[in-house]
Amino acid sequence: MSEVVLSLEGVQTYYGKIHALRGINITVKKGQIVTLLGSNGAGKSTTLKTISALIHASSGKIQFMGQDITSEAPHKIVQMGLIHVPEGRHIFKDLTVKENLELGSFTLKDDQERKRRMERVFERFPRLQERWKQDGGTLSGGEQQMLAIGRALMTEPKLLLLDEPSMGLAPVIVQEIGRIIKSLNEEGTTILLVEQNAKMALKLAHYGYVIDTGVIVMEDKSENLRENASVVKAYLGG
Ligand code: ATP
Repeated sequence: MSEVVLSLEGVQTYYGKIHALRGINITVKKGQIVTLLGSNGAGKSTTLKTISALIHASSGKIQFMGQDITSEAPHKIVQMGLIHVPEGRHIFKDLTVKENLELGSFTLKDDQERKRRMERVFERFPRLQERWKQDGGTLSGGEQQMLAIGRALMTEPKLLLLDEPSMGLAPVIVQEIGRIIKSLNEEGTTILLVEQNAKMALKLAHYGYVIDTGVIVMEDKSENLRENASVVKAYLGG
């Protein structure tokens, strides 16, 4: 049986009185891309925020690499190798591309190692290398998304949480981001992907979950979800 990287068991999360997650169960195995689909306000971003401890679960259990992280601090979770690339990218607009990448590895003491990692990011994203001196805020939407992913890669994550990486991007750039996600996974990064673009997500992912008002209502291999009538109707425009 393949190794479980992440598991959520009965996870519940509130925003004040709003009961956003109502007992979520999700498993992500090593080497997989798992996608979480759902309509607006279903609880996708809240699930990712709860995993990375930006909001704490009120009950349930979250395990990462066999360790209970339910009550762990966000920076500890980052140090363990679980990195969240939030919706809307959140890059530093007044810092250069290089400075943004450096911030992704600020806890790293070894300068040579930082350099090596940055070179690897630049190999993967030649567009970022060409623009290394440019302020983050002057990059295109697609380039900003690449920078947000590149910054996450500076930590050499074991698990990447990607929240809507295709949001607001032109179709050709969406395809490019899709290729990047696929190649990252093929090189060994496990990924939990939240997407409004269900077509792309189900093409990339091995396994998928569908969330509706804070509850997982369906889960299956992506190839089965792609053919499931209710998924087609609700998310694939069928
Ligand atoms: P979208 O695709 O629109 O981003 P989502 O599936 O990611 O949606 P969430 O952002 O997780 O949905 O929201 C889940 C529920 O929690 C929604 O009802 C939302 O209004 C509520 N919610 C989200 N963030 C907050 C907050 N900071 N305070 C109060 N309620 C919130």
